[in-house]
Amino acid sequence: MDVAINIFVAPSQCWSCGADTSIITNLMMDLAGEETAFCVGDLTDYPELAEEIATQIPPELGVGATKMRPSATMGRAYMSNGCAPCDAIFGMHYEIHARYDERHALTILPSAAAGWADLVEALNASDDGHLI
Ligand SMILES: [Zn+2]
Repeated sequence: MDVAINIFVAPSQCWSCGADTSIITNLMMDLAGEETAFCVGDLTDYPELAEEIATQIPPELGVGATKMRPSATMGRAYMSNGCAPCDAIFGMHYEIHARYDERHALTILPSAAAGWADLVEALNASDDGHLI
């Protein structure tokens, strides 16, 4: 089963330090021809998949680290975008606003489809198509 992940990024300005940074606004998975959209937060319970994406983002894109960060708004930690210079969390409302300026940055081809198929199943089973 072939899997490809299309990664969309957008420029944003950090709410904390004011620096220009980039965030992942959208992810589109193509699993055996079926497309499923998801966001960084949907990977909260799939750290190994988030890692697979994070390790393939070229540094020149200026995208902050994708990792678990505690959120006061959500009352829990979740997989999130962050500021490249200062690592401040970018909550999901920033992703929604930045989406107007997003562009397709790269496509990654994960070596194994198994974990990604689990993610599609969970997204399809959720009420609103998201896991967070
Ligand atoms: Zn910052």
